Amino acid sequence: MNILILGGGGREHALAWAAMQNPKCDKLIVAPGNAGIAAIADCATLDILDGGAVAEFAAKEAIDLVVIGPEAPLAAGVADVLRAADLSVVGPDRAAAELEASKTFTKEICDAAGVPTAAWARFDDAAAARAHVAAAGAPIVVKADGLAAGKGVVVAMDEDEALAAIDDMFGGSLGAAGASVVLEEFMTGEEASLFVLCDGETALPIGTAQDHKRLGDGDTGPNTGGMGAYSPAPVLDAAVEARAMDEIVRPTLAEMARRGTPYRGVLYAGLMIKDGAPRLVEYNVRFGDPECQALMMRLGAQALDALHACAEGRLAEARIDWAEDHAMTVVIAADGYPGSYAKGETIAGLGGIAEDSFHMVFHAGTAESEGRLVSNGGRVLNVTARGASLAEARERAYGMCGKVDWPGGVFRRDIGWRAL
Ligand code: ATP
Repeated sequence: MNILILGGGGREHALAWAAMQNPKCDKLIVAPGNAGIAAIADCATLDILDGGAVAEFAAKEAIDLVVIGPEAPLAAGVADVLRAADLSVVGPDRAAAELEASKTFTKEICDAAGVPTAAWARFDDAAAARAHVAAAGAPIVVKADGLAAGKGVVVAMDEDEALAAIDDMFGGSLGAAGASVVLEEFMTGEEASLFVLCDGETALPIGTAQDHKRLGDGDTGPNTGGMGAYSPAPVLDAAVEARAMDEIVRPTLAEMARRGTPYRGVLYAGLMIKDGAPRLVEYNVRFGDPECQALMMRLGAQALDALHACAEGRLAEARIDWAEDHAMTVVIAADGYPGSYAKGETIAGLGGIAEDSFHMVFHAGTAESEGRLVSNGGRVLNVTARGASLAEARERAYGMCGKVDWPGGVFRRDIGWRAL
């Protein structure tokens, strides 16, 4: 099988690594890829937001399966173009990618399908939104309707904070994403993520995870793209997962199919779990990064079979053979991230880390310069380990972190604290 993966972060390195474990993988190309991916696959220069260019490239390379990693090509309709060209694709069409791109859209789907989620109301002007806050009180959650790169959500603990957020969003702080605003009931509980492959009709759960959004130990400091993750999430046990599939994921798929926009791809359900009952916080239409790295470490070669079945509408016959294992990813970021940081710093020591099916360093923002590995982004390395217990995975991951020789690299020391 010839495979094309779109993207160039740690998520795509992990997907490429898992594909390479599978003997069915004959040729693997990643566009654009990164320095770590280049060591195991061909990297191609390609405008991954241009569906026509991707389809043409895939035809030229006789590609059998395209896996779309990030959200931007999905929102740009790349999957639509590839499907129209008869290619097998993992990733939803543009209309189905609305599940991530619009909060209002997702809430309407939830209401139509009876999916448990926070009570909500949408507003197109500040005065009406302010009046709602006065009536509903705090805590309350203020969300920009559109994509705002993680900056569009304010969990307001008092009314003044909520009013300030409303004024900010309608004042244009987030551009078009904040042209309408959703106010939500504040939910309590523990958050965890459920990852599901969907082929329009069938949904196959492929793992659970918890991430760490804040930069600093003890969940302090600014929000980031994610500083670490582990899988499975203990709070999302088999009983909660079964409820989430029955009450949230399958009704969503049925409603999407009923509307003529079947969901085909990776569905990432962000859940709030309280007393064993899951409620939906949000959907993403792709793997999380770094959650994907921990999931791929656990799934290994069978990830490719599942992704292929997803793309070809064969999930009803697919299955995952789970091991009693745990995986953890620790993100090493450039000092200064998520603010400004240096690039081009030499990273050494990776040669001293033996990589196998229990230990992998997935690359995110790396590049090669004059034969040296250098930093080339905010989140740079995803040190990932697997073990029989989460404690073992953690010990292995931090052991590997200790071997990375990069004075400008910083990482959290407490990934997994909630579960451990
Ligand atoms: P992400 O960067 O995770 O994709 P996003 O901008 O799409 O974020 P959400 O996931 O909807 O936004 O919200 C971000 C975070 O805010 C959630 O992970 C959760 O911690 C908190 N949150 C969102 N909605 C609620 C809610 N109704 N009640 C309590 N907390 C919430």
